[in-house]
Amino acid sequence: MRKTLSIKEFVSEVKKGNISVLEHTEQVLQQAEESNREHHHFNIIAKKEALKQAEEAEALIRTGRHKGKLLGLPVSVKDCICVKGIESRAGSKILSGYMPLFDATVIGKARAEGAIIIGKTAQDEFGFGTFSANVGVGFERPRNPLDPSRSCGGSSGGSAGFTALSSFAHASIAESTGGSIACPASFCGVVGLTPTYGRVSRYGLIDYANSLDKIGSIGKSVEDAALLLEVISGHDANDSTSLPEEALPLSSLRWESKFRVGVLRDFFEGCDDAVQKQCMRALDELEKHGAIVEEIELPLNAKYGIAAYYLISTAESSTNLARYCGMRYGLHERLEGNFNEYFSKVRSCGFGEEAKRRILLGTFARMAGFRDAYYLRAMKARTKLIGEFKRAFERFDLLANPTMPIAAPTFEEIGKLSPMQQYAMDLCTVPANLAGLPHASVPVGSGGKMPVGLMLTADHLQEEKLVKGALALEAVLK
Ligand code: GLN
Repeated sequence: MRKTLSIKEFVSEVKKGNISVLEHTEQVLQQAEESNREHHHFNIIAKKEALKQAEEAEALIRTGRHKGKLLGLPVSVKDCICVKGIESRAGSKILSGYMPLFDATVIGKARAEGAIIIGKTAQDEFGFGTFSANVGVGFERPRNPLDPSRSCGGSSGGSAGFTALSSFAHASIAESTGGSIACPASFCGVVGLTPTYGRVSRYGLIDYANSLDKIGSIGKSVEDAALLLEVISGHDANDSTSLPEEALPLSSLRWESKFRVGVLRDFFEGCDDAVQKQCMRALDELEKHGAIVEEIELPLNAKYGIAAYYLISTAESSTNLARYCGMRYGLHERLEGNFNEYFSKVRSCGFGEEAKRRILLGTFARMAGFRDAYYLRAMKARTKLIGEFKRAFERFDLLANPTMPIAAPTFEEIGKLSPMQQYAMDLCTVPANLAGLPHASVPVGSGGKMPVGLMLTADHLQEEKLVKGALALEAVLK
């Protein structure tokens, strides 16, 4: 295996004929299979399919006909994104045996640029978690490559873990509802890019909460993550919430630090000292390189973000999960009793504990008599929280906060947290997600031996600014 190349370097070597896609893919799959025994970053490694793609790519390269931006690149995909013919379960037993008949739009776009899909990565069941500890019944928890007793973060834990672990060019297609790209990127020391809501098609995504879900990228560097995001973004007629905007040339941007950066003071409070220190040091460096760095408060988001998010997300997810009842997708049981008895049997054994908790919470929030008090009030709060962000962007180009209040905890520590304490860990990531704003998590140092991520947020559709700022962070910290 060669030294880790950037995606652009890798693709250039492939095009020059210095790397055989087939041989490389074989080595990559071998490494993935070996590491999976300990780290469990994959729910499925798609060996047969990946080798077939590699052979096809190789044949095209020989005739000089392939020009893709991701030519021959091994790409992993979060389990909740449909890949044709590969079991796609969103980390849940209830989707056991579900083989999509089509590729999600993002998969089609990645394949069209020559990407080799190597497997489906581990996640919290349907995305319900912050530590990839809430995996479905019968699944393994992915392990942090820097310390296997610790979490990779969630819910896109396997995507971040394998990106950090792999010793070859690799990036992952991940998904965030309330921080599931930024959080694991921060815990594993890699870069996570979450686009504006609607920038990337959700067609073929197994929904968590439709008004919040966004597909994005995780890479070893800002450039790698930006390149993958560039490939998968753009309008899609198959997704009614897809924005008309063209895909952006994100991977050719250069760093720039002439930005006005608003430091979200409320989000620093309550963070571990080491996390605060690393984030402030990074912002000091940005300032030395010409950025204007000032403090700003978002009191509404700090106070109501978590509550609004968990009401809206559980309400939407409980509706989405209604379709899994052992009739259409995935798990089927022996048909016995009446339909209610049958559905209860399948759902009781198919869903894990956290999924059941969210079904109860969300159904309650939507119930007649409670709807006005909870769900509708949360929707009104959401509008106010977006307004607060919009006012902040009149003064600032980018907002900054620690991605997570702590560095990656051990599974033992996580086991001691109540569900409410776990939800509270999303304080810094949830607001930007509620507002549908593009954001990046960039590694800025470590707290103890585990990495710390700084999160930058830009206004809607300002991905170019976001990527330039993220590139600047990376550059000034080198
Ligand atoms: N931790 C959050 C939750 O449990 C976010 C998860 C996500 O973005 N999928 O809902």
